[in-house]
Amino acid sequence: MIDSHTHIYLQEFDTDRSLVIERAKMAGVNAMLMPNVDLETINPMLLTAKEYPNYCIPMMGLHPTSVTAQYKKQLAIINNHLAGGCFIAVGEIGIDLYWDTSLIKEQMDAFDIQIKMALRYDLPVVIHSRNALPQIYEVLETYKGSALKGVFHSFAESAAHVAKIQSLGDFYFGINGVVTFKKTNISEALQAIGLNRVLLETDAPYLTPVPFRGKRNESAYLNYITDKLAKIFGKNSDTIKNVTSENATELFNLRKYVH
Ligand SMILES: [Zn+2]
Repeated sequence: MIDSHTHIYLQEFDTDRSLVIERAKMAGVNAMLMPNVDLETINPMLLTAKEYPNYCIPMMGLHPTSVTAQYKKQLAIINNHLAGGCFIAVGEIGIDLYWDTSLIKEQMDAFDIQIKMALRYDLPVVIHSRNALPQIYEVLETYKGSALKGVFHSFAESAAHVAKIQSLGDFYFGINGVVTFKKTNISEALQAIGLNRVLLETDAPYLTPVPFRGKRNESAYLNYITDKLAKIFGKNSDTIKNVTSENATELFNLRKYVH
């Protein structure tokens, strides 16, 4: 399995990171892909990548809730890292209007600028969208027909949105613990997506699946997500694990890292 979205470098894991990674390996996780959050998380993320080479693999980007009025300065630093480093994606980027809508223009522009970076460095994008699909679509419309590819991380929308997103480009869908929540019903959306466009993710330390909901999340819990997906797709868990690993390897070009 590949955890395509974990913040294992955050301080929530500072006291027991090596144990969490040991448990993930025992549970069958072959790699952890790490989206960046802001300028402060870059160093801990890169240190984690150095400590667990070819296992904890970094991305580079500015999360929408971390976009400030000085976002152009923030993005210049992100761009410097992308130009000089080994990153598998531009992420996580996007638009989040759940907490605060005051910087909507800045968030949209930062998203657009980071898509341009992804195209420049030939990398996929990891998209975070919360209460913001119309704005996300507005930005993505301008890249229709381009080489843009990526994943809609933490996807739990309707089948109609799946069709809309697929009309905009070459996108995968990141499925996490939300799929195990009682109130969530994304079976129909998952059928529309198809298993060959699904990526597994935890979004650790957040969005912990049932039966550990409310506790800190970790990559070993991916097994609860694959069990649920196996039921929804009517396939066995091994098939879910193999196909989603193939999908992540393909999108993020992981062949040189994961064996
Ligand atoms: Zn995240």
